[in-house]
Amino acid sequence: MKKIAILGSTGSIGTQTLEVARTNGDLEIVALSANHNIVLLEEQIREFHPRLAAVWDEGNARKLRQSVRDLDVRVVSGMDGLLEVAAMKESDVLVTAIVGMIGILPTIEAIKAGKDIALANKETLVTAGHIIMPLSKQYGVSILPVDSEHSAIFQSLQGGQESALAKIWLTASGGPFRGRKREELRDIRVEDALKHPNWEMGRKITIDSSTMVNKGLEVIEAKWLFGVDVEQIEVVVQPQSVIHSMVEYLDGAVIAQLGTPDMKLPIQYALYYPERRYLPGERLDFFKLSQITFERPDLETFYGLKLAMWAGREGGTLPTVLNAANERAVALFLERKIKYLAITDLIAECMEHHKNIENPSLEDILATERETYEYVDTRVKRSCMTCLHVNT
Ligand code: NDP
Repeated sequence: MKKIAILGSTGSIGTQTLEVARTNGDLEIVALSANHNIVLLEEQIREFHPRLAAVWDEGNARKLRQSVRDLDVRVVSGMDGLLEVAAMKESDVLVTAIVGMIGILPTIEAIKAGKDIALANKETLVTAGHIIMPLSKQYGVSILPVDSEHSAIFQSLQGGQESALAKIWLTASGGPFRGRKREELRDIRVEDALKHPNWEMGRKITIDSSTMVNKGLEVIEAKWLFGVDVEQIEVVVQPQSVIHSMVEYLDGAVIAQLGTPDMKLPIQYALYYPERRYLPGERLDFFKLSQITFERPDLETFYGLKLAMWAGREGGTLPTVLNAANERAVALFLERKIKYLAITDLIAECMEHHKNIENPSLEDILATERETYEYVDTRVKRSCMTCLHVNT
């Protein structure tokens, strides 16, 4: 029985991973973890009986220890707790369903402990892909993509010759504001940005999808996962989200993966790879599908995508700046402290202000993350309503 540990089991990817485990009945869940949601975590512990559970905050961990004292589960906390989950002796696969750069250290720890990684946490590859990918080769572990586009690329590459890969067509829904111009996004509220047309996801990635920064992060993620240059990755808007991505070979053949939007498919594919299993749910009906349309992304309105492509081309610590500025700005937007357009304005400002470090060490990356957070916080504290569109 394959043994699974999950970082971020209470989130969108985490709960869907557990749904896949529940439906199949032949995966053993050995560790779970969450940030604040100890109520759901307790329910998950009672259903799946893991040996280990991690909660970020020690206060919450104490409460959870108390409420699950009738069960045989050890509750740990903080970064040490996440590292324990990542490297625990009993697991075969770590599902990185945690959000943000906090996933870097546990992912590295898991690789060093010989665990395969089912990777949803794209921020880790975006910022530390040059460390993670060689490390996974060194330790002989697989990095299996969970992101639907990257899973689609991975699936389309099966049976193909990797050296014959010419181009990746990375599809994008365009998000809830597709077709609008920048001026029309000035007064976007949190509720508006949280309405994704096709996918139900966590709050951060939903905002990232609306700004198309998510697509930019995916470009960098694809660069590392599939060993291609940013120039070989073309983003194409496909609003119906039927084609999850495509690969083009040297001879011009294009192979795509299509399906209804359901994250359980890429999750299940990563967990059972190379086996394909039955997955309950809606199927594509080509007779009902009226059309599949394609557009170029509007890089002026959604210039977070343009910034990410710049960061992906430059490499070094620039992707960390892009990612950290975005993480902080999105959190501030969700707290209603800055306006919508300030998210990409802040990313651009941080990137322009940064002195890039080539081939950064892990310490350089973590230091750049801290500096970027500080820069954003100071900038927002000092800003006026007009220059940063801050909601005060
Ligand atoms: P959610 O916000 O829904 O879930 C995040 C999970 O991480 C929650 O379980 C949360 O716990 C936990 N978490 C956050 N911070 C900490 C912490 N400090 N310590 C321990 N646990 C923590 O995010 P998603 O599931 O949407 O996304 C997860 C990752 O997957 C992201 O990197 C995202 O980009 C990627 N992804 C998501 C997709 C989706 O469809 N949702 C699609 C493709 C990629 P708590 O519930 O307690 O807050």
